[in-house]
Amino acid sequence: MEQPFDRRDGFIWYDGKLVPWAGATLHVLSHGLHYASCVFEGERAYGGAIFRSTAHSERLKKSAELLDFQRLKGLRLDLAQYRRPDPATIPAKAKAAGLYMICTISKHQAERKGYADAMMLDWRGLVAECTGANILFIQDGRIHTPTPDCFLDGITRQTVIELARRRGIEVIERKISPDELSKFSECFITGTAAEVTPVAEIADWRFKPGSITKQLMEDYTAEVQPRAAAA
Ligand code: PMP
Repeated sequence: MEQPFDRRDGFIWYDGKLVPWAGATLHVLSHGLHYASCVFEGERAYGGAIFRSTAHSERLKKSAELLDFQRLKGLRLDLAQYRRPDPATIPAKAKAAGLYMICTISKHQAERKGYADAMMLDWRGLVAECTGANILFIQDGRIHTPTPDCFLDGITRQTVIELARRRGIEVIERKISPDELSKFSECFITGTAAEVTPVAEIADWRFKPGSITKQLMEDYTAEVQPRAAAA
């Protein structure tokens, strides 16, 4: 008799890695099991290459979109009590442990209020960054982001700016005052941990994660996981 499906040999790609066949399990309360929130593809490889892999991936994404799986929620951020210091008082652009004291306090204060993180202003009262990630905004199809003159110019930030420019999206680095936040439609943060994460709220300001954020999330995933994107 043929082996039951759950007891076969081999490996399965599961949540971003190859796991032994028997280890690719789902919880009994999985939403997909009870409420059928599930889409799938059947694909076959010939000579080691998946036949029409891109067409299958596109259909999978389309199926998910049709079932409304693609909603970008966005983080809720507080406005931090402490400000990024004047570079005349501390080496503000170093990734030095001492600079993280106010970040940790700010993150913990935000979390106690039910927020994911906090956006910090700088010593002048201008928009700076989050406690461990950079911040970017979108207005009329252009990206606006604070000039990193007193905080870390993150490697993810630089990568995303390059990806945006490659797509022909204008990126403007400038001083941004918090009064301007009501004019921006989309907002997202970048960092090695955050990758590209949409933001829905900063204190009383509201944003709607939209097409540019989504595009850059996809471009960033393709950039950091080139083989996964090409498969
Ligand atoms: N700002 C701060 C304060 C950070 O700790 C980080 C994370 N290293 C970033 C920005 C983002 O930098 P990167 O994209 O290089 O991770």
